Amino acid sequence: MRIVVARNTGFCMGVERALEAVLEREKRSDSGIMTYGPIIHNPQVVELLKSRGIRASRDPADFEGAGSGFISAHGVSPGVRERLKATRARIFDASCPDVVKVQAKIKKFAARGYSTVIFGDRGHSEVEGLLGFAEGRGHVISSAAEALDLPPMEKVCLVSQTTQNREEFEDIIRKIGSKFRDLVVFDTICPSTSSRQDELKRVAAQVEAMVVVGGRNSANTARLARLAASLGLVVIPVESAAELDPEKLKRFRAVGVVGGASTPEWVIQEVVNRLFASCGGRFGRWFHRLLSFLAGSGIYPGLGMGALTYAAAVTLGAGARAASALAGMFLAVEYFAARRLADIARPGSGAVERKGIPLPAVLGAVSAAGVFVSLAAVGRPAWGAAAALLPPAAILAAGRWRPLAFPAGSPLALPAVRESVKAGAIAGVAALIPAIASPPASLKMIGGVFALIFLIVFNRSTLLALPMAQKDRFMGWRTLPVTMGPKNAVITVLLLNSFVVGVILLLGGLAAPTLGLWLAPAAYVYALALQQLFQQRRIYPLPVFQALIDGQFVIAGLAAFLFGR
Ligand code: SF4
Repeated sequence: MRIVVARNTGFCMGVERALEAVLEREKRSDSGIMTYGPIIHNPQVVELLKSRGIRASRDPADFEGAGSGFISAHGVSPGVRERLKATRARIFDASCPDVVKVQAKIKKFAARGYSTVIFGDRGHSEVEGLLGFAEGRGHVISSAAEALDLPPMEKVCLVSQTTQNREEFEDIIRKIGSKFRDLVVFDTICPSTSSRQDELKRVAAQVEAMVVVGGRNSANTARLARLAASLGLVVIPVESAAELDPEKLKRFRAVGVVGGASTPEWVIQEVVNRLFASCGGRFGRWFHRLLSFLAGSGIYPGLGMGALTYAAAVTLGAGARAASALAGMFLAVEYFAARRLADIARPGSGAVERKGIPLPAVLGAVSAAGVFVSLAAVGRPAWGAAAALLPPAAILAAGRWRPLAFPAGSPLALPAVRESVKAGAIAGVAALIPAIASPPASLKMIGGVFALIFLIVFNRSTLLALPMAQKDRFMGWRTLPVTMGPKNAVITVLLLNSFVVGVILLLGGLAAPTLGLWLAPAAYVYALALQQLFQQRRIYPLPVFQALIDGQFVIAGLAAFLFGR
């Protein structure tokens, strides 16, 4: 089965902006946060917010005890705003700018004596808010038929709820164009809604069924489902991947996936992943299983680590390259096994293994022996024993001292700390193993190789964090895409690459500068190209994208093998 994923999924601008404002406030304030109605119409996100103590209510009295109160992206009427402001809570306005523009138009024309007609859903919070600007002369219609039943009015201002269907709105304009003597019309369907509807039509032309992902209480998701049905497609509405029934989908040759404006990107990715794993044809299923095994067992990351260590050995001009690569590979597999064992031992983690000796225990023991033998074979048994103890020691230390989860407000809770710690650990291992296996290497050279490998891993982490930025924000991770936005993160990493490569060139800190300097920027260009293909939905699902990105480590090792001295 072919899977076609819409390109513009994830939160719309207004929802993203409102959520960011609430989460930023939560970091700074320890008194409660209330939102006027759900800040977003999505059950997963509402649950996450609840777990962080952010509650929703439409009763201004509930705001009395809260430190901060938020108006959601849908906006509120002037009356509600006044009532909220009269509470003891500090009120923040997260109304979407596109909604505010509609409010302003209604207000302006109401002041000139116009009656307002809103094409929208009765009772929806945005429509309720808009009605509040109509000075008591507002009407809501939800179809062209209702438009014909409107009472006689002198002057009419016609607008649409921002998430309505464009064709239906145009039909209404045609039908009532001559009904009122003085009619002003504003197309107030927002650009995000229009582009989602256009994208749905593009996907619809290629598929037989459409999976529409979003909250059941999300009006714009429901509208996307209606639009897909009107185009003759079988519609499968789901809130999450768990609701997908792959059996029902197997009869289709091609299935599309679209998401509402309030559906998080990570939920879309989970749905696509599940579709691929269960309906992606025999090859797709087999490939998915193999990939999950190789990634989950640490074998694939181990291959990458081995290749990176080999590239480091070549760049250092060190001998014993095969032994270094093997030690690096086994060390990574051992680390993954130790981490998996720690997860299994931790109550409530949900990690389970089959009965008998767990696979991670076997992999851990074999790879620890592999680390020792690889270094002992080149005359470094003591270093081999010490290196074999490193992964369990690192896991134990992380259990007590959590270096990757500094609390908000801590001076160490800086952007990209997580990526930097990971890149530093990998670069340290990759640069030191060859130096241990085949000394002597100058400190300047080790530093140069460390900086290059650090760059490659840091680049990779930043690009992998791009599609996960929405989830990372909820988890409190301060990755570069979360703190500075995706575009700025990519530019910053490019500048960092140029700076580090420049410094290495100046200091002459590499034995094989041509190859070494080529590795980091080339790996970045490769990963950037993959990122573009992933965004254009030419590569999916997420685990395949991640595996391809990690392939840059193997490519670096191969390049070192083929072209290194
Ligand atoms: Fe704003 Fe459009 Fe999103 Fe509504 S759907 S919150 S108007 S961007």
